[in-house]
Formats: sequence, structure tokens, C-alpha cells
Amino acid sequence: MQCSRRGFLKMTGVGVACLSLGRLGVNLAEAKAYSAKLKIEGAKEILTVCPFCSVSCNIIAHVRDGKLLNTEGDPDFPVNEGALCAKGAALTSMSNNHHRLLKPKYRAPYSDKWEEKDWGWMLEKIARRVKETRDRDMILKNAKGQTVNRVESLFHMGTSHASNEECSVIHQAVRGLGIVHFDHQARVCHSSTVSSLAESFGRGAMTNHWIDIQNADVILIMGSNAAEHHPISFKWVLRAKDRGAVVMHVDPKFSRTSARCDFHVPLRSGTDIAFMGGLINHVLENEKYFKEYVLNYTNAALIVGEEYSFNDGLFSGYDAKTRTYDRTKWAFEEDAKGYIKRDDTLKHPRCVFNLLRKHYARYTVDDVSSVTGVPKEKLLRVYDHFAASGDPKKAGTILYALGWTQHTVGVQNIRTAGILQLLLGNVGRSGGGINALRGEPNVQGSTDIALLYHVVPGYMSMPMADWQTYDEYNKANTPSAKSPNSVNWWQHKPKYFTSLLKAWFGDRATPDNGFCYELLPKLDKGMDHSYLFMFDRMYKNQLRGGFIVGVNPANSLPNTNKVRKALDTLDWLVVMDLHHSETSENWQRKGSDPSKVKTEIFLLPSAHRVEKPGTVTNSGRWVVWHNKCVEPMGEARNFGDFFVPMINKVRELYKAEGGTLPETLLSLNWPEKYDAEEWTKRINGYFWRDSVVGGKKYRKGQLVPSFTALKDDGSTSSLCWVYTGSFTEEYGNLSKRRDASQTPLQAKIGLYPNWSWAWPSNRRILYNRASVDVNGKPYDPDRTVIMWDGKQWVGDVPDGGAPPLASDKGTLPFIMAPAGLGQLYGPGRMDGPFAEHYEPAETPIASHPFSKQLSSPVYKFVSSDMDVLAAPADPRFPIVLTTYSLTEHWCGGGETRNVPNLLEAEPQLYVEMSHELAKEKGIANGDGVILESARGRVEAIAMVTVRMRPLLVQGKTVHLVGMPFCYGWTTPGCGDSTNRLTPSVGDPNTTIPETKACCVNVHKADKLTELDR
Ligand code: SF4
Repeated sequence: MQCSRRGFLKMTGVGVACLSLGRLGVNLAEAKAYSAKLKIEGAKEILTVCPFCSVSCNIIAHVRDGKLLNTEGDPDFPVNEGALCAKGAALTSMSNNHHRLLKPKYRAPYSDKWEEKDWGWMLEKIARRVKETRDRDMILKNAKGQTVNRVESLFHMGTSHASNEECSVIHQAVRGLGIVHFDHQARVCHSSTVSSLAESFGRGAMTNHWIDIQNADVILIMGSNAAEHHPISFKWVLRAKDRGAVVMHVDPKFSRTSARCDFHVPLRSGTDIAFMGGLINHVLENEKYFKEYVLNYTNAALIVGEEYSFNDGLFSGYDAKTRTYDRTKWAFEEDAKGYIKRDDTLKHPRCVFNLLRKHYARYTVDDVSSVTGVPKEKLLRVYDHFAASGDPKKAGTILYALGWTQHTVGVQNIRTAGILQLLLGNVGRSGGGINALRGEPNVQGSTDIALLYHVVPGYMSMPMADWQTYDEYNKANTPSAKSPNSVNWWQHKPKYFTSLLKAWFGDRATPDNGFCYELLPKLDKGMDHSYLFMFDRMYKNQLRGGFIVGVNPANSLPNTNKVRKALDTLDWLVVMDLHHSETSENWQRKGSDPSKVKTEIFLLPSAHRVEKPGTVTNSGRWVVWHNKCVEPMGEARNFGDFFVPMINKVRELYKAEGGTLPETLLSLNWPEKYDAEEWTKRINGYFWRDSVVGGKKYRKGQLVPSFTALKDDGSTSSLCWVYTGSFTEEYGNLSKRRDASQTPLQAKIGLYPNWSWAWPSNRRILYNRASVDVNGKPYDPDRTVIMWDGKQWVGDVPDGGAPPLASDKGTLPFIMAPAGLGQLYGPGRMDGPFAEHYEPAETPIASHPFSKQLSSPVYKFVSSDMDVLAAPADPRFPIVLTTYSLTEHWCGGGETRNVPNLLEAEPQLYVEMSHELAKEKGIANGDGVILESARGRVEAIAMVTVRMRPLLVQGKTVHLVGMPFCYGWTTPGCGDSTNRLTPSVGDPNTTIPETKACCVNVHKADKLTELDR
């Protein structure tokens, strides 16, 4: 039988991974094709995108008579090539699910039941609650008398489950209302990535893209179980392996990732900086770094000021009272023009290169081994393999995920990768880079659109009280170039910020009124409104009501027992989700008396990915369109169809009744109805008057062709400047593009420039100007990303269009950094310019060899009677706990737990422990056990396995256990949240919580109450 793969899949309609189909054989496929053909006969094929991880696999939905019959991987999509993991393959049953919320429901204060209500009733009530709270609690001036226009008692949480368009609607609504307690999944997922990669290279995103992983010669996977958590991404790892790449897995637990790697190295959770510090030292000591690259493209030669120092675990400028650093002490030395001084001989004792050497010389193999628990020979095996990628003709990449991000040193964990990859010349290169494996379904997009309290869309700071005017904001946020050849792209920030204000406020935004800047809410310096602090204030009765959409904090946040009690304090709460969740049902959790819970709850059914159109952005920054395949089930709505009419209701109330600061809401450029594609255009941006760009005339109302055309005079708008160029008059909606054409150069490295669109400017590999020498010649011609042909760049879209550095008008490759250089030394983070090993907030050891500073001196924590931490080496809690998700369940599991086949595959909470620990505790495989931390208890089933191993740390045995965090009490018999054990402590830069390392104890249970066995 002759049949193309596309044709084969079309005929079979079997919604399983094509990896499995490949094993079926032709005869069996024919039989399946016959039976499956009947099922999808006459069905329409509609393209959508998997609603889970940020691989964003494309899926074909078969729809007949408005019903979703079947889904299967899209064989044409270059990333998944038809393959799907267990979650993606279950899309049909996820959408056609018996457990879906179908109608809006209302729970009255102190009631013990839900009542069904219609949308109109709900919208009226919610709008009323919003207005009452806003009017009552709006703060017009802060304690210093500065205008702040914010309401602290309202909050919004969520969601990376939303499309970019829905995120954009939510962001504008939140700012219009004056809400500052504003956060979503990106905080707990990869906020440390953004902070760290931005400091290292200028942008906070994964540097390369999924397909490019195949081009690596060596792959270091740390803090990630990619094979299970980003399953389809892993095929690109395996493709690299097939080409001869060495693939190494360094992670506390042996997993399916380890099984497919060349070798696995277990380390103690929370000691990644020590491990990577040793590797940096190894590269420097053995001169394995890429000298030309280091000198030309990193800040190695820059001179640091005399006030910088580092002594015994503390950088200069530390204030023990406030637990903060004065970062001015870490500044570079500048010349009269404001450029940073440099020493190209690298001999100056205070040039970055020598400070770096000195800092990491302390990370000897002996000390690293004793802290991490990794034997010396295993350390050296990893070090030698990865250091070999410093050869210009080789490329090494690093893959990581939450195992690195969720620590009190999360940002600095990732900084070690930034430093290492800059030393080895791996940034900007095909097969190189740092591939942050982003998780949630649109977490890249929701980060770009910034559902976060401290930033506005496009990575610009939120207005602060100290910047009272539009001019003050621009002055404080527009950097000057710090090297003569630096592009210093952020010099254009006023154009992007002004275009955002124009998009938010439309005709009302004029130069005379500072484009309505003064109406916006403003933050006080040092105030943290992220999850940990939001729930701490809620627990302390300082919040009244708000929105939790597409997120389940009662399960997914640390110290969940406290989160649940905090929710009890609210007057009102809107929850919008696909299912009842631990958050929506909190009032009737075990041990809670509904007659004592005052919270009025509005539960709204939300539409599934297949039920709405829009764009999502995958981890590699590809902006991909998903179609609406079927109507939303029951009365479910997409988020846009809730927020647009809800804000319109609130506006009506203000128009009719007046109130506090109605101007912000009433000035919004806000539609009558939500239309996803119209919002895609808003995100791209419009001309607000006739304009000429590059000799071409554009009329008022036409789409802006590129962010280089955005202006700070009010003539353009864009809801997120990095997306400008994604929807143009000339080419239409580029997220819908499905053109696999490539030049031979592009084909060689798997670059698909005509498939969808990638931010920024359709560039597929960031910092690609660093893949060529100063004359524009690729360092590795076999993996050319771009090259200068004498007149122009060919290959990928160059990261900065100027000629090569050695030319007259040549520029440096890291265009977003003021000095134009990759930052080995990063003075912008809260916890130091170099990464330094500190123990987690809870640690089984009382000292370590690198300094007397046991844990980070600046990590964040909240204080309450429910925020207890175990002391270092506390004998009550001697075991290190790490947590993870599963292939079959996504994050908190609220969705996947309701899919019968996924629940059957992974039915209940377990704890993985070594045979040695089990023996010590008298526990057998399959026993019910109880885990305890200083904050709570959790029941689980013991899984005694060689996958976890005890480690020898400073001469003592340290045990590790691992638990998934995807179970919750609303799915009977599967157990409850692991996060009842984890602490409310966070990284000082982003407050990402430390859920990957805390201390617990375990014992056999006499009886189980949560797990129905
Ligand atoms: S969960 Fe991720 S890897 Fe699995 S099918 Fe969906 S997008 Fe692909």
C-alpha cells in the first residue's frame, strides 16, 4: 500500500502518537483505517493547538454536525510532526468531558450549596461587587502624598490557559480597575527564567526553539524531566542523540529522561549552583572557553568599580536589617562619555574575567562533590563533555525547567547557565543556547502580555509612585548606551510604552495629558504583590474580593493549608474554570463548616481551547493560531466573553452613579463585544493617523507593519510591541501561516521562517549575531544561522540589521543590553552579580564549604503563625523533598484528573523513596505513609524504587524523596495536595516559591483517610 504519512493519518483518524503508529505495520493500519473511516466520515478537519505544555503541538480536530469526534496530531506541523503525548492524545475526552462545568453557579454567603444562575444575573452581581469594593478601597494618594490610583483589596489571578488575546483583555481590564494584586502561573513556573535570561542576554525567553535542539553536540538536561513533562520536545533531543550528541541528565531522580540519556547523575536538590559553579571553574581552569567570543561578545573585558567586593558569602552593599543589597556598589567604571571602561588584555584585576575566575576558583571538585553528593568522577564526566562545546565547531545546549526555577536561588541557578554558555560561545548558535522548557499552555504569551503585577506588556516596568508623570516614567526607564557599538534597543522604549497607552486609552490618550499615564495605578517601591504576599495579606484579612481564572491556587501554591484558610477570609470571589476545583470548592473542604464561611462565590464555566479561536505562543516564541472547532459546551464562555461585558457593566454603573476615579475605566479604548481576531490586530497595533513608513503610505486605521514603525507621538498603538509585525496589511495574520518552505541554509538547521511567526521580528534564534565572527562569517559553517554575504544578512532574521561588527557601522550582538554584550557579570539582580551557592531555606545540613552564609541572605519570606520553617539540619525533618508533575497530569491536575484514562494511568498520590530509606523507616513498597513538614501532613503511597538514591553529603547520608503535585481532594480517592508540605519562601528577584527543596520526614501510616485504597 502506497500512502504518504499525511494521507495515512487522514485515513486512520487515530488520535495516538505517530511514534506508535509507526510500529503498527501496513496491514494493521489498513484494518484500522477501515473502521476509523466510519467514525470520522464526513467530518471537517479543523486545526487547533494542544492546551497543555508550551511545546504547543498542533492537533487536527474532526468535527461533524458541531460535535468533536476525534483529535489527532497534525503531521504537517514541524514541531510535533503528528506526534502527541498522553495528554495531547486525550484532547477529545478532555473537551467532551462529563465533569465540565456547564452553567454559571452561585454560592451565597454561609450557604451549603451551589445554585444555578444565568450569565446576565452573574454579570450584574459581579459588576456591583467590583464597583462597591473599588469605590470603598481605592487609594488615590500614598503615604508620601503621591498619586497612586490603586485598589489593594481587589485581586486578579490567572491565567496562562488564556490565549494572547484573552490575556490582553484581562491585562487592560485589571489596569483599568486599578488592581495591583495581579499574578498568574508564570510566577511559580518560570519567572526566574525571565529575570535571569534578561540579565544575561537582554531578553527573558528561551534562546533557541524546539527543533533546533536536534543540532546540539552535547545536551545537558538539569532540573527537568523533559521526556515526561515536555514529551514531544524530547524527540528533538533523541534526534540529536541519533546524530551522535552526548546527552546528560543531572537531576535528583532517575526518570524516563535519564533512561534515554547517555548517563544520569543524581544530585541533592538545591545544590545546582555548586554543581554549575564547579563546571564554570573547570572551563576557566582548563582554558576550554571560546576566547574570541568571550573577548568580543561578552562583558569579560569590562572594568568593575572599586566598591565591588565579595567576602565569605556576601557581596558588598549588604544591609542585614533590610536583607537587601545596595546594588550601586556593583557598578562598572565609566569614562567621561558614560561608556564602561574595558581592558582587552584581560589583565586588569577588576575586569569581569578576573573577578569571575576568582569567584569560581573556590568551586573545587572536592567541595562541589561534598555539597552536591555527586562523586568526583561523575562530576568530571559531565564537566569534560560539556566543556568540549567551547570548540567553535561544536555546539552545546542546556535544557531546564522547574527543577531550576523554583528555588530561593532560582534566578541564579539559571545565571550559571548564562555564564557558562557565554564562556563557551554557545549563545546565538544553532544547537546552542539555553532552552527554558516553558510549561503551561500559553505561559510564554501570558508572560509577554504580562499578567503580572510588576510589568506591563512587552517587558516594561509597571508605573511606580516615584514616576508621577509620563516624562518621569520614560526618563527612569530609557537606558543610554554603555559601549560605542551598542545598539541599546531599549532606547526605543518610549515608543513602545506610548503605543501601549494609546492602545489602552485610544483617542483619550494625547500628548497633552501624557497619554493618560496619570490615570494608571502605581506601585510603591519595594511592595511585592505576587502570590506569596497576596495570600499572606488575604490571610491577614486585607483583601476583600477578586478573580481567580484558569488557575487553582488552593492546590498549586506552596503552603496550601494557609492558602485555603486565606480564601475563607474573602467577602466575594469569582472563579472561572473548566471544572470545579479545590479553589472553587474551598468553602466545603474537609474540616470546613460552610455555615461559617462568608464568601460569596461566582463560579463561571470557561471554554476549552477547542472551543475558542486565538493565538498562543510556544516556548520557542512561535505565535500559533488555534481555531474554534466547536461551540463552547453548555453555557461556557471564553475569558474575553466574560471580561469585555463585565467591564462594560462596571462602566455603565459608573456612568449612571458616578464613584471613585471613574475616569480610568471610562477612558479605556474598550469594545462592545469581544472578537479574538480583532484583538490580535490590537496587539499588533494600528496607525492612529496617516503615516509613511519606509516610503510606504499607511492610512489611519491600518495595521503597523513592524515595531520599528511604532512612535512616541500618539500616531501608533500596540498592546504588546514585541508582537508588532505579526498581523500586517500586506501578509495578514501571520500566526496562521503554514508554509514549510526554506532555503537550503535554513533547511540544514531546521529553521521554518515561513511557518507561523516568531517574536521578535520573526527571528527564530535569538542573539544570532553572536554566531558569526566580527566579519559576519559563521563560526560553524555546518550550522549557519546567519551570514553576511557582503551586502546583507542571509539565513535567520539577524538580531540587529547593521553590518558585521568589524564594518564601519558594525554593532554588537546583544542588542537589548546597554553595553551590547552578554553579561558574565550581571549587576542588576537582587542577590549578586555572580551566582553563589546557598542552601535552600530548609536544608538538612548546618554548614557548607563555600562560605559561612548558609542560605541566601536576601531570599523572601512571609511571616504568620502558619509560615513555620524547619531549622537547618533539624533532626525532625532530615529528608529532602522535591516535587514534580507527570506525563499524564498537568500541573495541579485539575483538568487531567477528570479524564478517566489519564487518572487510570496515574491514579493517586505517591512518594518515591530509595530502598535504603524504606528499610530505615520500615516501609514496604505500596504501604500507606505520612509525610510531615513544619507546615503540614500529607498521605501518600510509598513507591520504593532505585530511581531515588541516598547521597553522601559532607560525609553523611542524606535521603531524598520525590512527589507529584497534581492530586487534590476534589477527585475522590487520589489524595490531596503535596503543597501542604512546601514553604512560602521565594527568590529575591521574582518571589518564585521554593517548591523543589524543603525538609520533611516520613513514617508508615496506621490508616489512610485521603486515599481510598
Ligand atoms: S502536552 Fe505538550 S508535548 Fe504533550 S501533546 Fe500537548 S503540547 Fe505536545
